[in-house]
Amino acid sequence: MYKYIFGPVPSRRLGVSLGVDLVMSKTCNLNCIYCECGSTTKFYNMRDSYIDINKLVEELKDVLQNLTPDYITFSGSGEPTLNKDLGTIIKKVRKIYSGKIAVITNSSLLNDLDVRESLEEADLIIPSLDAVSEDIFKRMNRPIEGLSIKNILEGMTKFLSTTKKDVYLEIFIVEGINDSVEELENFVEYLKDKKITTIQLNTLARPGAIKEIKPASIKRLSEIREYFISSGLKSVEIIKKYTSREELPKYSDKLEELILNMLNKRKYSIDEMVELLQRNEIELFKYFNILQKEGKIKIVVENDQIYIKS
Ligand code: SF4
Repeated sequence: MYKYIFGPVPSRRLGVSLGVDLVMSKTCNLNCIYCECGSTTKFYNMRDSYIDINKLVEELKDVLQNLTPDYITFSGSGEPTLNKDLGTIIKKVRKIYSGKIAVITNSSLLNDLDVRESLEEADLIIPSLDAVSEDIFKRMNRPIEGLSIKNILEGMTKFLSTTKKDVYLEIFIVEGINDSVEELENFVEYLKDKKITTIQLNTLARPGAIKEIKPASIKRLSEIREYFISSGLKSVEIIKKYTSREELPKYSDKLEELILNMLNKRKYSIDEMVELLQRNEIELFKYFNILQKEGKIKIVVENDQIYIKS
């Protein structure tokens, strides 16, 4: 049983991703209403050495003997940039691993130069931004005292104007809270001149810290995407998993039947499925997610590859 490593996790965005937790569960400076790790129990805003780096490196060496993930991803059950050794850790990981490194961050510490420099050691940064106005930030992210969206936006602006790395900016939508006309206009106003690889709209997949909140529908996410694109933002995608056939426009029963039929005989890798069914990975994953939710198929990692099996 590893202390700092979790996964590997099959993911459409990152392929085979091995997760690394850089803080103790659940250490964060936010307490987001949608957090799938539950409420924040260690509400800290101070950067510290939360883990034993040598032990982490040993654990990674051990896992990497049998696995070559597409990404090592620093995320987990807290905010990774709270670990003040982030840059050092990424450099150490590079010595034993030649694949890509991603960091998923809540963006709260981007105003800190050391955090920005540490992130520059990674290949891909996935920062989140769920609000642009202060009151909505407080409702969505319930920050630790003293943390303001003004400060986060300042940091985000510095980061986006200097980074040379890929940035997938994630906006988590909770209907009725951060999807008002005014707040969407605020997002456009802030993001319109920023250099971002892609903006990703996400919503709840599992119950959040506040049980009452509901995932945004695909219809609402599509409306927001269209509004962003028509307002001049480029590359906006929805990453919410499709969980029902009704949500998927032009759902093909025939394709579903073909997928199930193939998997009846044997398991297939994603690449094989793409080639045989002549559909792209994004489209196929929509079907896989629905069928997986219904318990008809499994998405697994075996021998460094993502396989689909019944
Ligand atoms: S920033 Fe991430 S870990 Fe922290 S409360 Fe929000 S969702 Fe959870």
